[in-house]
This record gives sequence, C-alpha cells and structure tokens, in this order.
Amino acid sequence: MACSDALVIGGGLTGVATAFYLAKGGASVTLVEQEQLNRGASGRNAGSLHFQLEYRLMEHEGTLDKELAHYAALAQISIADWKSLEVELGQPIGLVMHGGLMIAESAEQMAKLERKAAIERAQGVSVELLDRGALVALAPYLSDAVIGALHCPDEGHCNPRLLTHAFAHEAEKLGVTIVTGTVVDDLQRKGSQWHADLRSAERGNWSKSADIVVNAAGTWSGHIAAKAGIDLPIYPVGLMMSVTEKLPVVMNHLLQHVGRKLSLKQTDDGNLLIGGGWLARLPARDQLLAKNYRADIDMVELAKNLRTAEEVMPLAAQVAVLRCWTGTTALTPDQLPIIGASKSAPGFFSAVGGSGFTYGPTYARLLSELILNGKSSFSLDPYSPDRPGLHVAQQGVGA
Ligand SMILES: Cc1cc2nc3c(=O)[nH]c(=O)nc-3n(C[C@H](O)[C@H](O)[C@H](O)COP(=O)(O)OP(=O)(O)OC[C@H]3O[C@@H](n4cnc5c(N)ncnc54)[C@H](O)[C@@H]3O)c2cc1C
Repeated sequence: MACSDALVIGGGLTGVATAFYLAKGGASVTLVEQEQLNRGASGRNAGSLHFQLEYRLMEHEGTLDKELAHYAALAQISIADWKSLEVELGQPIGLVMHGGLMIAESAEQMAKLERKAAIERAQGVSVELLDRGALVALAPYLSDAVIGALHCPDEGHCNPRLLTHAFAHEAEKLGVTIVTGTVVDDLQRKGSQWHADLRSAERGNWSKSADIVVNAAGTWSGHIAAKAGIDLPIYPVGLMMSVTEKLPVVMNHLLQHVGRKLSLKQTDDGNLLIGGGWLARLPARDQLLAKNYRADIDMVELAKNLRTAEEVMPLAAQVAVLRCWTGTTALTPDQLPIIGASKSAPGFFSAVGGSGFTYGPTYARLLSELILNGKSSFSLDPYSPDRPGLHVAQQGVGA
C-alpha cells in the first residue's frame, strides 16, 4: 500500500465515501468538514441515478465522443456498484432501481436518442428505444407531445439524506476520524507530507499532516486546489428542486428529457420531485466561499421548470408545489468529473463534479484504488486534472 495516512477535505458523499473505501483498504483516514456532514450538494440534490448519458453530456456529441463512450462504460460499473451498495452499507438508503425513461418530443430528439443508445449499448448499458405505443403502455401518464423514449431498466433514485450518513457510519466503524465544524484554511507541502492548517470554534487553530490529501470540497474544490498550487477549472452552478403535494402513485420511473431540462419522479408517498438543471441565483463571487452561502430561487426559471413538467405529465398541473429548495453543485468546462492526482502536486488528489450523486460511490471506490494501489481497476485517465482540453471555455450547464 502506497499510502498509510490520508486527509480527506469535504464531508459530502464524495469525501465520506472515499474515506470509507480508503479505510476499507487499510489506510488511516481523517476527514474534515467545515459544517455538518451532507450539508452541501450531497444532501440537497434530486437523488436521481442517471445512468443514461444526460442531456448536458450529449451536447458534446461530435467533440467528446471517446469520452462519452468511456462515461457510458463507467455507468455500467456504477450500476453494479449500486446493486451491492445497500448490502455493503448494511442499512436502508432508500434505493429504488425501477428504471428510467429519457423522453423525446420530436423526430430530431428521437434520432438523438438512437445515437445515444448506440454509444451506451456498445459499452454494455442496457437500453431500449420505445416508440409512442410501447411508451404509453409503460407510462400512460405522459402527454401526447411525447413521441418516444429510451428506457434504461437500471436507473432509479436513492435518498440523499441517508446515503452520505450511511457511508459515514460504516467509515467510523473502520476507524475513520470525522471532524466536523472545522475549516481547512491552508495547505502546504513539507518534505514528503501535506500539512493542513485547520480552524474550528472548539479547538481554535490546529494542524494535521498526512501523506496524501483528497480534495472533495465540491464547489469549494477549486479554492482548495489553489492552496496546493493547482488550477482546477471548477465553476459553481446553483440549481432548484421542487416537491409537490401527493398524487395517486402512477409513475415508478425516473423521467428525464433528451432535449429539455427536466428530471421528474414520484416518491412512494405520491409526491412529485421536479428538477433537471434549472438555475438558481448565486450570490456574488466573493460570497461564494462563505461556508453557509445559499443560492436563491429564481421565480422565472422555477415557473419554466414546473411548466416543462406539466407539459410532459399533465397530472402534475393538478397538484400544488409544497416546497422548493436550492443547492450548488460543481461543474467543469467539459462537464466530465475531475478525479485523480495532479503531476505538479504529488499526493494531492481531487474528486469533483459530474453527476456526483449517481457516480459518487464509484468515483470514491476507484479513487481509493488509485491512491492505495497506484492504479484503479477502471481507468480514470479521461478525468485526470491534467487532461488536455480541461481548461477550455465554459459551456452549457445542467444537473
Ligand atoms: C439541486 C441539485 C440537484 C442535483 N441532482 C443530482 C441528481 O439527481 N443526480 C446526481 O447524480 N447528481 C445530482 N446533483 C449533483 C450532486 O449532488 C453532486 O455532484 C454531489 O453531491 C457532489 O458531492 P460532493 O461530496 O463532491 O460535494 P458536496 O456535497 O458539496 O460536499 C463538499 C463538502 O466540502 C466541504 N468543504 C468545502 N470547503 C471546505 C474546507 N475548506 N474545509 C472543510 N470542508 C470544506 C463543504 O462544506 C461540503 O460539505 C445535484 C446537485 C444539486 C445542487
């Protein structure tokens, strides 16, 4: 084992799951979180398990084809990880894998679904193209405007309020020290170790040295990387979510759209959860680093999000929205995650971005392999912080 002592920065899903897998592999791990666990994107997201290439990724069709194929292969690995996760964690996490539909409303969108299906099938992801007749038999609640869909039987959702805590519980059993309410203020390389300056209300200023650092600080990860002398092109995106009153339970699929921003699903109790990448208002840049900043609801964008849901599922118009909330997620210019070490900073690993709820457990498992064995069982090269083309102009966003 190359690493015996690790400091993980960030108590969201990525950090906590990485701490768990590192400890499982024999490392001694301390995790530091500036607030409470799961207060960032990991506890505020839609909980969707998107194994189909999402709308925002398909925008890179033609320019990132090799990367999209690799991401589809990662989906296949992630599906297997999710299927064993509840057993591995030994506690309920609200996991449902009843399948997902990515719907289309035009011939052009159907053609895109066909091209997407070809990429996914080539990597072993199970997907089936449904015409209007087959779709209505499966999802009679959809509006007449929806003409077909791509069905992936493995998609689903999981409860974001449970998953990170389940990993934390198991990580602590393996000896991980979890320190909350503690900010990593600075990082320096001293000899063969990293040295972190920490600050908490309880202990004041203190420090911690470690062989390796895992930067799992979500939207703050660019800031943490800068302290290690690395330029990570991370940009924060505020997103909105809504939950409605209950309807009789009619849908058990995760619904996404291939050409519009939408994710829609129904809880076992009947509430609809509506999201899909509609933007919330972020505070000014200089306030984004405050640990407790919040993105604000954008009423105009919210209305568009709800209208999109009603246009594809007319029943949604019959229920009122009970609650809306926002969260901020970290994206990269090419929409792919950043996972791995930077050549210029030995022992400094980052794990951030890219559908991090769906892929978080897999990013964490593969990253821990890379850290512990110097190599992961599935190549993380396309997600390297040093990859060419990462520092290109920002493009379309979503989640
Ligand atoms: C509204 C919304 C909906 C989403 N829906 C989905 C979805 O349906 N499916 C999906 O796959 N993904 C979804 N995502 C994305 C997903 O939630 C994120 O990719 C994922 O949760 C990122 O996890 P993380 O652990 O990397 O980051 P976070 O959960 O944000 O955790 C980072 C942690 O680092 C801590 N930290 C930062 N700086 C410091 C410091 N200096 N010292 C100590 N601690 C620090 C923060 O306090 C935070 O707790 C959504 C995101 C949002 C906002």
